[in-house]
Amino acid sequence: MLEQHYKLGGLATWFLRPGGHVFDVSLHGFPHGMIKSCRRYWSRDIADRIVQLKNIRFDNPQFSLTTTFNREDFTRLLTSDFGIEPATVNEFFDTARGMNFYDDQATTTRQLFDRFFPGRDDVVRLLMEPITYANGSTLEDPAITYGIVFSNFMNKGVFIYEGGTDDLVSRMKKELLANGVDIRINCGVDRIHVQDGKVAAVETHGRRIGCRAVVSNANLRTTVLKMIGPEKLDRDYVDQTEAVRLNNSSTQVYMALKPGEEIDESSGDLFFTSTANEFRTDLLLSRDITSRTFSFYYPRTRPEKKERFAIVSSTNANWSDWADLNEQDYEASKKDLVETTIDALEKYIPGIRNKIDRAEAATPRTFNHYTQHEMGASFGTKFEGLAVSRALPQQVGGMYHAGSVGIIMSGWLGAINYGVIVSNEVDRQLTSESQHV
Ligand SMILES: Cc1cc2nc3c(=O)[nH]c(=O)nc-3n(C[C@H](O)[C@H](O)[C@H](O)COP(=O)(O)OP(=O)(O)OC[C@H]3O[C@@H](n4cnc5c(N)ncnc54)[C@H](O)[C@@H]3O)c2cc1C
Repeated sequence: MLEQHYKLGGLATWFLRPGGHVFDVSLHGFPHGMIKSCRRYWSRDIADRIVQLKNIRFDNPQFSLTTTFNREDFTRLLTSDFGIEPATVNEFFDTARGMNFYDDQATTTRQLFDRFFPGRDDVVRLLMEPITYANGSTLEDPAITYGIVFSNFMNKGVFIYEGGTDDLVSRMKKELLANGVDIRINCGVDRIHVQDGKVAAVETHGRRIGCRAVVSNANLRTTVLKMIGPEKLDRDYVDQTEAVRLNNSSTQVYMALKPGEEIDESSGDLFFTSTANEFRTDLLLSRDITSRTFSFYYPRTRPEKKERFAIVSSTNANWSDWADLNEQDYEASKKDLVETTIDALEKYIPGIRNKIDRAEAATPRTFNHYTQHEMGASFGTKFEGLAVSRALPQQVGGMYHAGSVGIIMSGWLGAINYGVIVSNEVDRQLTSESQHV
């Protein structure tokens, strides 16, 4: 396993700051399915530390509410607070849950909502805003991507890993080593060598490592167009890859409280806030921020460590708003991001500014820098990326791609489950080749 960074985890990461502060980057929530996937493919030890976040809040000009974010509670809200007929709500949930990969891919999420909740922008906002936050999907994306991801969450609610990302990744590393994986950090793969239509070697720091199969977890476009190179591939396939749109990026503001300062549990676990009067994707991504999702980390997030509280504010963002700023403007924009976020939080927790010990921001450039995802993409690619990722072994024998792709295979759960599918294919290839030797 070759990792270009000095740390394992990729976007599933954390960082330390003076004063004993630990910040998680992408530990905000995933569906219940993670428990099963971790138990089967990692260890019981990891699976047993996954716990539910029960207090999910929303506040925007259209509604304010608290929910456990599952089908039962959403049915309650949609029927009693939003006045939707129970039969319509039921049919919507069943339709969303019944969607699968082989369904009609032309229907968009907007069309799905128009069918069930015409003219109800508030309902669309409740159903869509958290999913846009979770994987960058929009009303224009195929409805199946929404249906699958939304139903995964509605199954039982939102979960996180108790112990923090640092604990999770260290247990994963232990499991890898126990299984004989040779892990090398600071080893970026520069090229993938192809011979006679098959993978021959990967190259890192000028050294060739011969192999019969490669799984790349790097950005799909980078893997295909830069590591392998268009000249080794069919023209059609290259065209398809070039047409793959990346998902959006994110900004975050990390805030740690001074020792002894606390946040009341009534603040919730995940808090979706917006000052925009309506739900629009362009507003969610705009540098002129209206939407912020706050994750509150209480001492229970890391029960074995110090009694510390932290808050991380996340907002979907465009690469283009950050990419070309000179250093001075970039620093000023980051500072503004931090200040305006604390102002926004003050509205909900008066006096929080004085309780904060440390606050700093990450931008699309930060995510690009640490993971090499093109344009700092937080959630892989749009839907069309999945077909390109799946078709890679037909282009180059022994060459596979996993990691966030196609919206469905995104986030911690999507990435794990896609990794399982791809690993099985690699296993099949290697086993069948060994039998023929
Ligand atoms: C701000 C933010 C918040 C998020 N919140 C959540 C959340 O709450 N819940 C959730 O489920 N998901 C969340 N996600 C998404 C989730 O983190 C990712 O979908 C998941 O980590 C899978 O990422 P990946 O496999 O696509 O890429 P990565 O995790 O980035 O993995 C790619 C790995 O490949 C390495 N690499 C790249 N190029 C090379 C190379 N040439 N050679 C060697 N190594 C290379 C990278 O360093 C990295 O380790 C969030 C993401 C972001 C950015």
